[in-house]
Formats: sequence, C-alpha cells, structure tokens
Amino acid sequence: MVEIQLTNTRSRSKERLVPIDPQNLRMYLCGPTVYDRAHLGNARPVVVFDVLYRLLRHVYGADHITYVRNFTDVDDKINAAALARREAGDPRPLEELIRERTEETIGWYHADMDALGALRPDHEPRATDYIPQMIAMIEDLVAKGHAYAAEGHVLFDVRSFPQYGRLSGRSVDDMIAGARVEIAPFKRDPMDFVLWKPSDSGLPGWDSPWGRGRPGWHIECSAMSEALLGRSFDIHGGGIDLQFPHHENEIAQSCCAHPHDEFARIWLHNEMLQVEGKKMSKSLGNFFTVRDLLDQGIPGEVIRFVFLMTHYRKPMDWTADKAREATKMLDWLYEKVDELPLDERWPASERVMSALADDLNTSEALHALIHEAQSILPPAHPLADGDHHARAAELKRTAQLLGLLSMTNSEWRELRCGGVDLSPLAARMQTLRAEARASKDFSAVDALKTALTEAGVEVRMTAQGVELIPGAGFDAAKLPQ
Ligand SMILES: [Zn+2]
Repeated sequence: MVEIQLTNTRSRSKERLVPIDPQNLRMYLCGPTVYDRAHLGNARPVVVFDVLYRLLRHVYGADHITYVRNFTDVDDKINAAALARREAGDPRPLEELIRERTEETIGWYHADMDALGALRPDHEPRATDYIPQMIAMIEDLVAKGHAYAAEGHVLFDVRSFPQYGRLSGRSVDDMIAGARVEIAPFKRDPMDFVLWKPSDSGLPGWDSPWGRGRPGWHIECSAMSEALLGRSFDIHGGGIDLQFPHHENEIAQSCCAHPHDEFARIWLHNEMLQVEGKKMSKSLGNFFTVRDLLDQGIPGEVIRFVFLMTHYRKPMDWTADKAREATKMLDWLYEKVDELPLDERWPASERVMSALADDLNTSEALHALIHEAQSILPPAHPLADGDHHARAAELKRTAQLLGLLSMTNSEWRELRCGGVDLSPLAARMQTLRAEARASKDFSAVDALKTALTEAGVEVRMTAQGVELIPGAGFDAAKLPQ
C-alpha cells in the first residue's frame, strides 16, 4: 500500500498517515458560512482536500473514507442578508427569508464547487440540524468546569485548558496581545470565547438551559464532527486563517469534553490565495467569486489546474497568465486522451501517485503527468498503436486522481467554445483556401485568419483540412460573422 505523508500543523513536521481504522478513514473540513457566493479563496481548501479525498479513496478504497464538510447556516451575516431583504420591502417573515438565503447559497456553492470538479463529501451537515448536540456538549463543558454562563451567554474558560494555543504554537498571552479579542463585561478573561449567545425575539433562536439563543460558530464543528466521525478521527483541515482562533477553539471544546479521546490526529492547513501578487480584497478591486470566473468563460477545470500548480502549503497566486497557461496545457492533454472513456481498471502512474503521497505535492504531480503525456500520441493519430492507447488510458486514469481530464476532448472543446459551433467558420476557411490556391490571391484567407486570431481562435491548416481551436483568450462575441 502507498504510504501517505502529510504535514501535521500540530507537530510542524511530515508524518506518516496511520489510519485509526483503515476500514473507515475519517476527515473533516470546515465548510462555508452560507450567506453569499464563494470567492476564489474559499475554493482553495475545497480543491486541496478534494485531491486528498481522491487519493485516500484510491489508496484505501472509496467505501473506506468518510469525508464531512459542514454548512454554517446560522450566523450574523446570514441574518443581516435576510434583514436587508426585508428592509428592501420583502414582506415575508425573517425566518423564511433566512431559509431562502441559505438554500439559495448552498445551491450556488454546490454548482460552483461541482464546476471545479470537487467531489461532494459523504456528509454535508447543516449547523441548525445539530443544535441539540451542541447544547449537550455545552452543558457537559459547564459541568466539567470548562465553561460558565453569564448574562444569557455561555463562555469557554480558556485558562481551564493549559494546552490552549498548542496547534499554532503560541501562548495565550501572546495571542491576547496579537488578536482582536472581543472585550465584554461578562467575560472572566478576554480570551474566553462564546459557546452560546442570546437571541432577541426577532432573530433565529432555540430554547436552551440559558434561555433562548443560538450557538457560537466554533461549537458547531466540535458537535458535528463528533456526531458524524466520532470523538477521534484522522484528518481535520481548513485554510490557515482558521488555525486561530477557530481550530484552537475546536480543540479546546472537544478535548475538554472528551479528555480521553484524540479529537483530530492530523491537522492540515492550506495557505491563502492572492490575485496578481496582491491580497484579494474588495478595496483593491481584485475581489471575485468562482462564479465571476466561470461567467467569463474560464472553465472550472482551468481554475482547478491553476490551483494545483502551487503546493497547498505555499501562498497561491491567481494570475491571468497562469489561467492562459493552464488552458493551453489542458487543450494539449485533452488531445492526448481524445475521446477515450475513463476506465478505472487502468493503473495510475506511480510517479504521480508518489508525488501526491508526499504531502500532496500537486505541482510535482502535474509535472509528472505532463512528462508522461509528452511521448503519447493521441488515440486518433494515424501512427498511434496499442502501446500509445494503453498509455493514453493510463494518463486519463491518473489525471482523475487530480480531478482533471474529467470529460472527453469533444466535450472539452464544446465547453471551451461556450456552445459556439466553429465548424461553419472552418468550412468557410477551407473554401477560401481552395479558391486562393487557384487564384494565388491569399488576401481573403489572411483577413479571415486575422479576424479569428483576434477572437482568440488558433487556426491550424494541415493537408487534412482546417482546424479551429479556441485559445485561452477565446471570445465568441469577437468572431467574424
Ligand atoms: Zn470548523
């Protein structure tokens, strides 16, 4: 069996993945708060952990992995989005507006992550379905002396857990100095965080021993991971921005509630995403969602390819140049596999596998994939023999581990063209070329070629005919009429 090594944030070193139960390897990823479209940075952990999920399924078998990613569907931002709709004149009750907003956002999220080729997790629990489990866990923490009720709130007593900060390697005092901690009169210590807070009658709330209220964000993941994965599981992931306070708080809650269990064995964190070398932010005008890119005609697989070019532990820089490069590479790779169907019986490339098994080195895996593709002739090529076919089939099988080459070449071309049929233009070019050969006047051929190039179409003229290939900058609106 392939040995998988992963960098555990807690030990700051690469560790061999030793499943608690090889029959059921369990992984949890902190999911989105569903109040708006996912921005590009939100998609990075989804793609990183999708590659890990694919690798684990390949190594241990698809039925032996349980992957959970939650939806945070109770949050002040969701309430604010629903309130804004009501203030804009929508007469429906707030509860209905909130449900509509969360349902709508979950639908968008699924569509966008599907477009990136991310497999759906085995469970996608919603926080509001686990309120009783959260209340039970909070009661347990109060009973054990790790939490206290004050003015309708319940707070976690950070000083009661001496290991607090171990994940990020900082002391509580350092964290107080460096963090934006919320000062509140009812807190015993500024670091104490909210497990439960009161809801006034206008906001979503649930009855609890501390009055009507709603859970804090951190307790969700502790309660839902326990309900679906048990008190000890293998891998817990998220963006590096979640390490503190969110993951420190999850550890504090779960380890104090269940001091004899491990909670998460390996913590994986992906680095952040930048755009053209700068932090993505609304104020810099470089903020965009996954949907914005898809709507610009950039296929999800191109976005995924760009993500995979950078190791998950390094900051990732999204650039238009990289998107063009990725598009070119995918065009080339799709030609190699052409119309071959995926056949899972083919072996996956060992070089690609070992790159992935080495702390999910996706950039090295892509290099290996491209290297292996270099000597393969496309199956439709007149010189392609049985050996080329076998290697093209293996290429397709291997690419699946990375979530790439998920369709056929013709489906890919169709997607790249946004449904525009280029064949009439190819036929016109063919006719013009035949006429030009007779008249020796190539001006009409050159004019059409220039117009096509300006629309981002590559024109290939061979003895067999004319082939039009949409390039990375393809724009159907600029096509000649
Ligand atoms: Zn979480």
